[in-house]
Amino acid sequence: MNMTGPAESNRGVGPSVLGQLLRDRSLRLAAGLAVAVAIPVAVLFYFQFRSISDLSKSSTVVLKQLSQETADGLTRSVEEALKMPYINTLLRTSQNQTEPLNLTVIAPTFEQGLEIEPFVDRFYVWSDVAQEHRGEVLAYDRESHGFHAGVKEADLMVRRFRELSKQKRAISVFEETIDGRRTYFQAQIRFITPAREQMSSFVGIRVDAERLRREYFPKFLAEKLKNVEGPIGFPPLAVSLMDAAGRIIVPTTGAAPKRFEDDRTFPLVFFDPELISFAAPDGRPAERWHIRTGYGDQTIPQIIAARERPQRAMMAMLAGVMALGVFFFARTTAREVRVAELKSSFVSSVSHDLKTPLALIQLFAETLELGRLKNTERAHEYYRIINSEARKLTRLINNLLDFSKIEAGLRRYKRRYKRQPVDLAEMTRGVLDSLTSQFEHNQFTVTTRLDDHVSARIDPEAAVQALENLLSNAMKYSPEHREIVVEVDRADGYGVVRVRDRGIGIPPRMRRKIFEKFFRVQHDGGSGPHGTGLGLAIVDHVMRGHHGFVRVDSEPGRGSTFALYFPLDAGESHGDETDSGDRGRTADVARSA
Ligand code: ADP
Repeated sequence: MNMTGPAESNRGVGPSVLGQLLRDRSLRLAAGLAVAVAIPVAVLFYFQFRSISDLSKSSTVVLKQLSQETADGLTRSVEEALKMPYINTLLRTSQNQTEPLNLTVIAPTFEQGLEIEPFVDRFYVWSDVAQEHRGEVLAYDRESHGFHAGVKEADLMVRRFRELSKQKRAISVFEETIDGRRTYFQAQIRFITPAREQMSSFVGIRVDAERLRREYFPKFLAEKLKNVEGPIGFPPLAVSLMDAAGRIIVPTTGAAPKRFEDDRTFPLVFFDPELISFAAPDGRPAERWHIRTGYGDQTIPQIIAARERPQRAMMAMLAGVMALGVFFFARTTAREVRVAELKSSFVSSVSHDLKTPLALIQLFAETLELGRLKNTERAHEYYRIINSEARKLTRLINNLLDFSKIEAGLRRYKRRYKRQPVDLAEMTRGVLDSLTSQFEHNQFTVTTRLDDHVSARIDPEAAVQALENLLSNAMKYSPEHREIVVEVDRADGYGVVRVRDRGIGIPPRMRRKIFEKFFRVQHDGGSGPHGTGLGLAIVDHVMRGHHGFVRVDSEPGRGSTFALYFPLDAGESHGDETDSGDRGRTADVARSA
């Protein structure tokens, strides 16, 4: 009677087709979950990213504006300051005061000028129509605080202003080097007749360009910059002043930032650009100085990018962490769902597996009991089937019990194996003997190469179970070439029990997974041998518990070799295995197993 076909029966509703479906369902659930979490998170991140870039845009505008406005404001202030002497002093000293010369009226104006226009060195008045001091250049300065004649620049001034007066302009400026210093002279010129034929008087000032450069501008700009506040969290706004030749005047260290955002120029004559058109040109183009603003050596986009970078990196990191979280969450959920569903299908497949051999046992036992069988050979065959089905039941139940222990062990305690010295060849022979009838019944040829005296310290019950599982699989997954080779030998310091078959083999990518609980390779679209997916999980657990391992070599279509590697018994070499040292080691192993 061949109830089990070529392969051993460990039948049941294998989770093959159903498992696939369930797997899909769990994947669907995981994907749904991932999407449900990922969409709001993505939306959140999108808005966060947008607000970062909005912030960057507005910061760019702020930085640009600050730079522009500061440059414009400073240029305006400089121009205003430079034209002050013209408005405050030169224009205020009218022709009535210079012709005839009224020094008592002029003196307070000059005195005030010295006070409020710090860059002016000296004031001058000259009148060609005065009663007293006629044709004399009278100077008024910080040293004298009164008028005095005989300054050495007097002749130069009269000569140059006379020349410039030929252009019939009221405002005249010229530059001259005096005592090695560049000096500007500016005057408001008065003429005798409205036709401006002849200069009758002038009021003038003198400015030391060097002092302007060294003292006045640095102080002036520093004063103005006190009121400029940079946006918080950005590099401060840097202001520099350069002369026409590009020499740095401010900062006084002479090191201006290489990059600038805005560049404004102003004419270095003592009135604003509008008044230049009224001035008598002295032949030289008005010298233009520069005011530049910027943020150190970085451009605004660089500053913004530098500020954005950590924020974006942070966001990207957060997104990564969240994505990982979602992934693991979905994966765990999918696994849990898959395991839960496989478990429930497993229960039904196990109950089926229990029922079938039981029914067979019952049927053959009843037939035997009724004593209807005349043929003793038949009766013997029936006994053999009962015995073989009972063994299958035992193996199934053992696997189940073991699995439940493993499950509990994984959570609460590690299973402790009762280890003792066991001769692997002897153990293997025992297992093969007990399975003889199954091999014969399923027409398997079993070849053995068993090295004697390979001793390992193992729990015989667990090791037998592991070996039985391998042999049962070898039968189950060898539909055509029913040849099994079993070997025992030593390799790499291990005692090895090897089971070779010439069955269907295992695809390479599955070779790790077959040791996972419930995992089964789908054969023939689900119509292949049935099973619980626990056999190899138990083998793996047993081997780990013995500080050994199980190794699989397989070629799809050609067969598989499963090898159990048990650490050799240290005492085997001298043949004494029951000394106290061994016992101590057993205790150690049990503890760490
Ligand atoms: P089960 O045999 O109950 O399915 P196992 O844990 O014993 O569970 O085996 C897991 C899977 O490994 C099997 O479903 C089978 O696909 C594959 N497998 C195990 N042993 C062999 C073998 N000797 N030849 C081919 N495939 C095997």
